[in-house]
Parts: sequence; structure tokens; C-alpha cells
Amino acid sequence: MRILLTGSTGQVGWELQRTLMTLGEVIPVGREVSSLGLRIDLSQPDTIRHVIRQVMPHLIINAAAYTAVDKAETEPELAMAVNGTAPGVIAEEAKLVGAGVIHYSTDYVFNGNQATPYTEQDEPNPQNVYGKTKLAGEKAIQAVGVPYFILRTSWVYGLRGKNFLLTMLRLAREREEIRVVDDQVGAPTWSRMIAESTAQILSQGTKDLINFLSSNSGIYHLTASGQTSWYGFAKVIFEYDSKRSEHKLEKLVAIPSHEYPTPAKRPAYSSLDTQKISSTFGLAFPSWQRNLELAVG
Ligand code: NDP
Repeated sequence: MRILLTGSTGQVGWELQRTLMTLGEVIPVGREVSSLGLRIDLSQPDTIRHVIRQVMPHLIINAAAYTAVDKAETEPELAMAVNGTAPGVIAEEAKLVGAGVIHYSTDYVFNGNQATPYTEQDEPNPQNVYGKTKLAGEKAIQAVGVPYFILRTSWVYGLRGKNFLLTMLRLAREREEIRVVDDQVGAPTWSRMIAESTAQILSQGTKDLINFLSSNSGIYHLTASGQTSWYGFAKVIFEYDSKRSEHKLEKLVAIPSHEYPTPAKRPAYSSLDTQKISSTFGLAFPSWQRNLELAVG
């Protein structure tokens, strides 16, 4: 199996390079020219078409995205090109070359007014530009009629890239007091767990990939179990940090969102129900705390 992977320098894409290794030939492509002379920029549809026709993959995994949630408010066209339009182009080209598509989306497609975890049946209603562009990307893939999985995840962290975990670990070493929002609830999810789960799902269908993807095509929620606030997440990060002796931090303060205004509005509640993915593929998702413990231990 030949797998074309976008976003391989990102949190999830980086981990995918490792977890996909035993499933086939993984060809990472990004904005830098690769060793195979390939370059893809999702804001430039021609580069997408060119690379897919060159590589002729059996599967395309799109882990690339415009993920700067606040910046997207002032760069809506670029965010829409990368998150909304490009997935549709990828899907069209996949259909043309007979490939399947795996794509990632976000809890921010929901408005956050619910009090119980969102299922795949719940109606999206994004509150910010990023969420709107990601929802457009989901719809663009679905409109093409290619075999696909859309995996919605949330609050992604890992040991590389830009994320809440790394920011908190840094701030704990720089500041005596940190104030963190306590009225947004979701599920922190380790990039490594997302990549492992993706590979485990795929490994169930490698013998007849297209049939496997076609018969299970759809949206799936993929996050760690449980839920917490950003404050709750920060608290456990500091508890689990194996180098706590380096901390300057003395006081962690819970604050409401209005005391930490951001350009993009975030949903107050964006926990995702993972029942569908668990029962379809027989996977179990450990708690966010257990994942975090393994990530920072
Ligand atoms: P990252 O921000 O860590 O990585 C984004 C990747 O996309 C990088 O490899 C980046 O490449 C690439 N990229 C960005 N713009 C372009 C472009 N124009 N052309 C080609 N490549 C581009 O993302 P994550 O790993 O965190 O996210 C993976 C998926 O999960 C995404 O679909 C995201 O929407 C989704 N998700 C993420 C969440 C999070 O908290 N981060 C939460 C919920 C869902 P480069 O090195 O060139 O910048």
C-alpha cells in the first residue's frame, strides 16, 4: 500500500509517520520540497493535483491543516483555502486515482451549547472561522463520493509543535502564577494516540482497503476518554511533570473565559462521544489523564 501523507511535520502527522510505517510505503509531502522532489501547498490546488497524480497513492491521509484558531479570524480566506477547499480537491483527485481518504477534523465544528458529549449525529454549528472552515472541509470530502474516514478529534497535544501542554510546561518554569480558563470543557488528546488509533483502524482493512473504507465511510469522533477544563488539564500537567523540581510556579488560578479574551470564540463544551468508533473498530480509548501520564512521564 502506498500512503500519501500531508502535514507530516505537524503534531499528528509526525506520529503518523511512525505508526503507518508497518502498513505500507509512506510518502510524506509538505511545503518544503521532499527528497522525491515533491511539494504540496494546500492553499494551491494545482500542487495538490500534481502530487497526487505523480504519486498515485492507494490512500491519502490529510493531517495538514490551518490550525491557528485565533489567527484564522483575520486570515479567513487562507484558512478556508487550506481547511475548506483543499480537502475537496484531495477527495476529487483520490477518486480519480482510485484512492481512499482519511482526514482529521475538530470538536470546534460544534457550538458548545450541549451538556453531554456530542455524537456524530449532532448538528455542527461552528462559532469561529477555524470551525467553519473545518466543517466546510468535511462537507467538501463528503460531496465527492470517495471512500473516506473523517476523524474528529480535540485539544491535541504532544511533545512537538505548538500546543497547550508545551506552553504550560514552559510557563511553569518562567512564572510564579499562571491563570487558566476553567469554563471551557473538552478532552485533551495525545497526538500519539490519534496516530496509533488511525493505524490500528487501517490495519483492519489493508487486505481490501477500498472496500473497507467504502463500507465504513463516515465521520468518527476520536478522542481520549473523560473531559476537563483547560484549568483541570493544566493542574494535571503540573502534577505529572517528571521534572517538577524545575518549576517556579506557586499558584495556578482558575479564571472565566471573559478574563482571557481571544479573537476566536471557543465552545464552552466540546466533549465528543466516541461510542461509534469504539464499536465499529473495537477500540478502547484510555482516559486523558492516563494518556498525559504516559506523554510527560
Ligand atoms: P499542526 O498545526 O501541528 O500541523 C499542521 C500541519 O499542516 C503542519 O505539518 C503544517 O506544515 C501543515 N500545513 C499547514 N498549512 C499548510 C499548507 N498550506 N500546505 C501544506 N501543509 C500545510 O496540526 P495538528 O497535528 O495539531 O492537527 C492535525 C489535524 O487535527 C488537523 O486536521 C487539525 O485541524 C485537527 N485538530 C487539531 C486540534 C489541535 O488542538 N491542534 C484539535 C482538533 C482537531 P508546515 O510545517 O509547513 O507548517
